[in-house]
Amino acid sequence: MPSSQKIEDVLRYIKECSPGEDEFYQATEEVLHSLTPLLNQENKYLDHNILERIVVPERSILFRVNWVNDAGKVETNLGYRVQFSSTIGPYKGGLRFHPSVNLGIVKFLGFEQIFKNALTGLQIGGAKGGSNFDPKGKSDNEIMRFCQSFMNELYKHIGKHKDVPAGDIGVGAREIGYLFGQYKKLTGEFEGVLTGKGLNWGGSKARKEATGYGSVYFAENFLNVYGKTLKGKKCAVSGSGNVAIYTIEKLYDLGAIPVSCSDSRGTIYHEEGIDLQALKAIKEIHHASLEEYASVDCNCSYIPKHAYPKDGHAVWHIPCDVAFPSATQNELTLIDAQKLKENGCILINEGANMPTTADALEFVRKNGILFSPGKAANAGGVATSQLEMSQNASMAQWSFKEVDIKLQVIMKNIFQTAYDTSIEFDCEGDLVTGANIAGFRKVADSMIEQGSV
Ligand code: NAP
Repeated sequence: MPSSQKIEDVLRYIKECSPGEDEFYQATEEVLHSLTPLLNQENKYLDHNILERIVVPERSILFRVNWVNDAGKVETNLGYRVQFSSTIGPYKGGLRFHPSVNLGIVKFLGFEQIFKNALTGLQIGGAKGGSNFDPKGKSDNEIMRFCQSFMNELYKHIGKHKDVPAGDIGVGAREIGYLFGQYKKLTGEFEGVLTGKGLNWGGSKARKEATGYGSVYFAENFLNVYGKTLKGKKCAVSGSGNVAIYTIEKLYDLGAIPVSCSDSRGTIYHEEGIDLQALKAIKEIHHASLEEYASVDCNCSYIPKHAYPKDGHAVWHIPCDVAFPSATQNELTLIDAQKLKENGCILINEGANMPTTADALEFVRKNGILFSPGKAANAGGVATSQLEMSQNASMAQWSFKEVDIKLQVIMKNIFQTAYDTSIEFDCEGDLVTGANIAGFRKVADSMIEQGSV
C-alpha cells in the first residue's frame, strides 16, 4: 500500500476511535504527513505497523480529584495521565493545570513529547498529564489540597524508573513542591519522581530557566546557518509565564531586544524592551495581570484582549524580526502569520507546544519564513529535567554553569539533528520535516527492535 494512503487510513482511524480530540488530530496530521519521504524510502515502518501503534497511547489514566475549598465545600475536577510511549525510556512529560485541559489536549501534548524527548538524544519516553483545575484565584491552601488529592491517585502510576512528571502551564515550583510532598507521604520514599523540584530537595540549577534559554539557543543556532545572529534583533514574545520570562532574559544576554509579552487578558508592547525585573515581580511574585505592568511603566502600551485583531493576536502585529510564541497552543493564526510576513519577520521559533495553527504553518512554510517547531526548539526543559534525574541518581548537584553548558550542547545537537535530517530528505531548513523524521526514526527503530509489545 502506498504510504500516503496508509497515512490517511491511520488519520481516519484516529478520528473514528477518539472523537472530538481536535488538537490531537492536528498534531498527528502534522507529524504523519511529514513522515512521507521516510516511509517512501523504507518499507519496514509500514511492515511493522508502526503508524497504528505509535498513535495509540500505551495507557491513558483518567481519574476524579475531590478536594475541599476554603469554604469547606467539596469540589471535583478531572485528572489525566497519558503514558504514550516507554520505548526509549521511562515516561516523561509535564502536568498542566488549566480549565481548558481535556483528553484531546493531553494526548496531543503526550504525542508531541515522544518525538521531542527522542530528539534530545536522552533515554526518555513520552507522556503528559494534568487537570481542568484552574489555579487562578485559588488560595495557597486550596492549591495544596488540590495537589495532594491529585497525587492520591497519580502516585500509583509513577516512579523514578517508570514515569517522571514535571511542570507545564499552571504547574510551577509551588505545585511541584506540594505534589512531591504528598508522594513522599504516601510512599515513604524520597526519590526523584518529579522534576522541577526545589533546589534544597533535589532540584537542578537552571531547570527553571531551561526551556526559555534553550529556545533562544535554538533560534541562534538556526540564524547562524544563514550568517545571522539575534544581536540587535527586535523580538516579539508571547506569554509571560516560565517559558516567556526566561526567553526574554536570554534574549537580553544575546543582545536582542524583546519588545513584548502577553497573558490571557492582554499584550504589552514596550518598544525600548520589556522591563524584565518588573515582569518577574508581577508574574513570579504577585501572580497578577499584565495590566499592572502598564501602570508601572508608562512608556509601554497595553492592548487588552477585546482590542485584538479579528481572528488574531495583537502580539504578532507588533513589528519584529523574530517571533517567539511562548504561551499556549494555536495562539498564532493565519492572519497573524500574514502580518509577521508583512512586517519582515524572518523566524518563528516555537517556545510553546504547537502555538502555530495548521493553516498558519502552511502559510509560513510556503512564504519563506524560517520556522523552528516546538518539539525541537522547546526541548531544553525536558532535557534539563533528564539532567535533574541524573543528578538525583548520583546524589550530585551541578553548578548553574555546568547545567547551562550541557543545555547549550544539547540544543545545538537537537538543531543539528533536525537540520541534517532536512538535508538528508532534500528539504534543507525545513525543520518540521527534519525534527519529525529524526524523532520518529529513533523511536520506530527501537519499537521494531523490541518486538510487538
Ligand atoms: P506558564 O508559566 O503557566 O505560563 C503560561 C503563559 O501563557 C501565561 O502567560 C498565560 O497567561 C498564557 N496563557 C495560557 N493559556 C492561554 C490562553 N489560552 N490564551 C492566552 N494566553 C494563555 O506556562 P509555561 O510553562 O510558560 O508554558 C508555556 C508553553 O510552553 C506551553 O505551551 C507549554 O506546554 C510549553 N512548554 C513548557 C515547558 C516548561 O518547561 N515549562 C517546556 C516545554 C514546553 P495567564 O497567566 O493569564 O493564564
